[in-house]
Amino acid sequence: MKKAAKLALIIPCYNEEEVLPQSIKKLSKLYEDLQKDELITKDSQIVFVNDGSKDSTWQLIEKAHKKSSYIKGICLSRNFGHQEALLAGLYNTYAEIYITIDADLQDDIAAIKPMVKKYQEGCDIVYGVRNKRDTDSVFKRNSAILFYKLMKLLGVELVANHADFRLLSRRAVEAMSEFKEKNLFLRAIVPLVGFKSDCVYYERKKREAGQTKYPLKKMILFALKGISSFSAMPLHLITLCGMLISVLSFLLMIWTVYGYCTGSTIVGWASLMSAITFFSGITILFMGIIGEYIASIFVEVKNRPTYIIDKKLD
Ligand code: UDP
Ligand code: MG
Repeated sequence: MKKAAKLALIIPCYNEEEVLPQSIKKLSKLYEDLQKDELITKDSQIVFVNDGSKDSTWQLIEKAHKKSSYIKGICLSRNFGHQEALLAGLYNTYAEIYITIDADLQDDIAAIKPMVKKYQEGCDIVYGVRNKRDTDSVFKRNSAILFYKLMKLLGVELVANHADFRLLSRRAVEAMSEFKEKNLFLRAIVPLVGFKSDCVYYERKKREAGQTKYPLKKMILFALKGISSFSAMPLHLITLCGMLISVLSFLLMIWTVYGYCTGSTIVGWASLMSAITFFSGITILFMGIIGEYIASIFVEVKNRPTYIIDKKLD
């Protein structure tokens, strides 16, 4: 068993003024409980990362920092995105254990204590896993199931029903920082780090205030990023499909020439139209899939900074 360690709770915030006051209250209470139980040291921190909010989120963080010195803040120069804000928090805070959690506290903070205990038992990574999805809309629930099935089929290792609520040890964060990619899909990067890991199960609540920062369009783009950054399988499938279609086309050609030679060809408008529309559709779809990969290469090659820090509250 390890002794009490320095914890940093990392919380990305984008326009969270409605939910932040109650989240700060709940997290402060948890922080005190963890210290009372001697699970974390006195220099542990709660770090809010303001991801270019346009509302009073940063002012709320400043106010909380003034009141309690263990509350820290990192303010990014603009909105970079959830995954980027998480990395800004992880890579700019020194601690022995890191736990990332969303600002709306939809993920149950009661799972944090068991997470820290698992760390003490020797785990470097502890995944927060939802045991139910009944607080999700029917669409979100089913699309999530489909997504996990698809990712498995494409050979990407993911912990099902786990998002970005997790514990990482110092060395896991250091190992993660060796992954230099710009297309961030952390839930697929973390399993690639390896080390001893375990899961803690919890029930995810509904958002208590404010709106989701992941509307449908952002969710779909995020899922596409996950696929194109972690699996080349779609490209292989295109090649296989192309091979199959080529063989069929060749056979069709022989059949057509044979028909022409024996004089049995007739005016075939319908079949011609079907072939043209079908193959044009497939061609454009495949070009789009290849385009997704080119787009990821484009982003990687530019190697722009993942985030830029404007100011910090230490
Ligand atoms: N978030 C962020 N930057 C963004 C979008 C979201 O830092 O560009 C944060 C947001 O404040 C929250 C977390 O990411 O803490 C997850 O967002 P949200 O709870 O809206 O997602 P959902 O739970 O609906 O999937
Ligand atoms: Mg949420």
